[in-house]
Amino acid sequence: MKIGDVMSLQKIKDAVANKKMICPECKKPIQKFEKYAETIDAVRDGFNIIEIDSNASRVTLTCGNEPCAWKERSEYWIEYIIE
Ligand SMILES: [Zn+2]
Repeated sequence: MKIGDVMSLQKIKDAVANKKMICPECKKPIQKFEKYAETIDAVRDGFNIIEIDSNASRVTLTCGNEPCAWKERSEYWIEYIIE
């Protein structure tokens, strides 16, 4: 999966705002997300470092629907988005 960082964050934002990101535990819309990392993969090629553009956003998803305590750090958040 290769999605630009800004684009993917916007996608998460929209999904949460439109209640399209669903908690796998209680099946209710996830209330919160927090960005915790950007991944930049670097590969050493001899003395050169080649940066590979695979900067999928990693986020902490928090269900937030009491009493559900589901929380997950994931870069596969796209799996929780419903159409
Ligand atoms: Zn939940």
